[in-house]
Amino acid sequence: MKHLTNYIDGELSPPAGGRYLENLEPATGALLSHAPESDETDVDRAAAAAAAAFPAWAGRPAAERSRYLTRIADLIEARLDEFARAESLDTGKPLSLAKSLDIPRAAANFRFFATAILHTTGESHATDYSAINYTLRRPRGVTGLISPWNLPLYLLSWKIAPAIATGNTAIAKPSELTPTTAALLADVCREVELPRGVLNLVHGSGASAGAAIVSHEAVRTISFTGGTATGAAIARIAAPMFKKLTLELGGKNPTLVFADVDLDRHLSAIVRSSFANQGEICLCGSRILVEQTVYERFLDRFVAAVTALRVGDPLEAATDFGALISAAHREKVLGYIELAKSEGGRVRLGGGVPEILPARCAGGFFVAPTVITDLPMSCRTNQEEIFGPVVTVMPFRDEAHAIDLANDSRYGLAASVWTNDLTRAHRVAEQVQCGTIWINCWLLRDLRVPFGGMRQSGVGREGGDEAIRFFTEAKNVCVKV
Ligand code: NAD
Repeated sequence: MKHLTNYIDGELSPPAGGRYLENLEPATGALLSHAPESDETDVDRAAAAAAAAFPAWAGRPAAERSRYLTRIADLIEARLDEFARAESLDTGKPLSLAKSLDIPRAAANFRFFATAILHTTGESHATDYSAINYTLRRPRGVTGLISPWNLPLYLLSWKIAPAIATGNTAIAKPSELTPTTAALLADVCREVELPRGVLNLVHGSGASAGAAIVSHEAVRTISFTGGTATGAAIARIAAPMFKKLTLELGGKNPTLVFADVDLDRHLSAIVRSSFANQGEICLCGSRILVEQTVYERFLDRFVAAVTALRVGDPLEAATDFGALISAAHREKVLGYIELAKSEGGRVRLGGGVPEILPARCAGGFFVAPTVITDLPMSCRTNQEEIFGPVVTVMPFRDEAHAIDLANDSRYGLAASVWTNDLTRAHRVAEQVQCGTIWINCWLLRDLRVPFGGMRQSGVGREGGDEAIRFFTEAKNVCVKV
């Protein structure tokens, strides 16, 4: 059985403590590989390598750093099939999704920041004709980058690319549940001869490797994506050490469907926004709010469309919907379905493990796409993040009621609005408290726009200029003229 390695100081190395975690295939429950359970010793080595590499890397012309990132993107694209298969095996998501979304977007992240650093503008201000102020932006040093399991390479590269493009060095930790694409990225970095220490990939659990990165004195900048409770724990350590921190956290996103929606055109996108990646995308809508005059009609059509999703072996080309990430997560999701029933919810579709699965997947961690109605917004099912294939559907009276329901949440990551009345769509977009709102679309991304959440969905923004600002320190120089 394969033992994955860390990538520290340009070398592939086993964990210092010799401990490993089992990496299971969610679609079958079978053992895929062993991944390092790294600890402080490994993180110390990575921090020393990153600190040593920083001055030379930061001092290189932007065009040189850009070329490394472009070559990394090229090689990920050249090895698309291999990366996508690894991602599907690690996560349980359909191979077709990994191939069409996750891996191309990971390559796009490197390509985007490879070119962004060539085109950023500086700031200067003439002050009352007596002075000129200009702003110098310099990389901050060793960064700590921690990501979750749902879009493993995509989310990790979304941090690695801007961090190293702007001249920082990095210690990156993928989720312990999905280590394989990060291990493949290490191969790619070695192939492009990325200078040693610029990127260090350290595997391991949050409690061991993750905590060691967060509390390491040399790591002055942390970019974290994951659960809200983990974000709070990280902030408690980072704040008194005065680290710069961005937190991309959980969500409980509303989907607002108005009576004038063009359902023939948008129904499949609304289904995708609810169940893509088995609902394990932080941006998936999990609370569908429908104008009451079309509520029953919408529900019938929505349930029929979700019924048509093909649940099955993620490696099969026809599969729309695969396995959840782990047995523990499946139990959590099934527990929420039971909670919903105890809160008075009516299960309109799904509600448990799918009845028919291919033989290869008999031991996999599947939950059928589940649609629940008749729950108030105040109940736990509607307030807590489930992060799985469970959506609730509820009616609203009018626009004001829809906005109230949408905002009745401690989270504020994303929302979508489906209507033919664009004036109303803009009004609603302004009033729903969230970081991203899609109108008649979902998951369309422009890498230049700010990305992040409000409320308990996070602090700080990633993407485009926001990322470049986050990973650099601004210094003002004032010249008397
Ligand atoms: P998680 O918080 O359990 O783990 C995320 C990462 O943090 C993993 O790499 C984990 O090992 C590490 N970690 C855990 N405890 C740590 C600690 N004490 N110190 C340092 N690192 C630690 O989250 P998860 O279960 O992997 O991912 C699911 C969550 O991520 C959901 O809540 C989802 O909404 C969220 N998410 C948010 C976004 C976003 O952009 N806002 C994107 C994807 C996922």
